[in-house]
Amino acid sequence: AAPVSVVADRKPLAGFESGRIGGEVAIHGVNKSFGTLKVLDDIDLTVGSGEVVAIIGPSGAGKSTLLRTINHLERVNTGLVAIDSELIGYERRGDALYELKEPAIRRRRAGVGMVFQNFNLFPHLTALENVVEAPISVAGVPREQALASGRDLLARVGLADKADVYPRHLSGGQQQRVAIARALALRPKVLLFDEPTSALDPELVGEVLDVIKELAKSGTTLVIVTHEIGFAREVADRIVFMEAGRILEIAAPERLFSAPTHHRTREFLAKVL
Ligand code: ADP
Ligand code: MG
Repeated sequence: AAPVSVVADRKPLAGFESGRIGGEVAIHGVNKSFGTLKVLDDIDLTVGSGEVVAIIGPSGAGKSTLLRTINHLERVNTGLVAIDSELIGYERRGDALYELKEPAIRRRRAGVGMVFQNFNLFPHLTALENVVEAPISVAGVPREQALASGRDLLARVGLADKADVYPRHLSGGQQQRVAIARALALRPKVLLFDEPTSALDPELVGEVLDVIKELAKSGTTLVIVTHEIGFAREVADRIVFMEAGRILEIAAPERLFSAPTHHRTREFLAKVL
């Protein structure tokens, strides 16, 4: 296959050539359009090991698309994404980049766990089977070992007694906690959450946020798109404000919420706070 040029209009980040770049997640010069609609406009973001970054911003800002580029569910037009110094979706041979093929992409994607708004559990599998599916079929973990780790993960999200229950018999909050256990099962380097509580009844939001807070405390690297501003303030090391495909402001929560520097951040916060 021909090499691809994914750094068309930007100088490569120092260290990309050698494969040594800072941060568990490094996003550099990412642009993405759907047809004529520019959805990601020159995005740079680095997330350190153990860091918790919350992404906020209005609907249509490109938040979901940005998360999806991090695990190569969405291909970028230009720019690079690396997880723990490994380019996602591409490999370097000599001076050129080549797009990886499916099995290799899937292996690298295993470094990134993702939790969606709508849980996306396999309906025909029990909670435990949902958790062990990827370890067994993608990572080749022996079944007994995968089941034991799967039970531990379900216990960690407070669902030790629901291992053999099918998703339709679980509440939304319980289904989302199974989804979190499933995302942890491949021992990802970073966990991405896309509005993990937006589909939940209000009384079920707390139990899911509690699990995420626990992960944050235990040093898991997290990137969370959320409308839960109070939660973001409590759990995040840094807040990213996005609008119209651009990152307009990045700051620690104390600073961003008390003294936003961009007028669009101020206007957004005035609406949601
Ligand atoms: P957010 O998550 O911040 O609400 P999204 O990343 O979902 O924003 O979407 C950003 C913009 O990209 C929106 O205008 C949306 O309609 C558009 N978009 C998202 N996915 C696609 C797609 N697959 N095809 C075309 N347009 C898309
Ligand atoms: Mg979204």
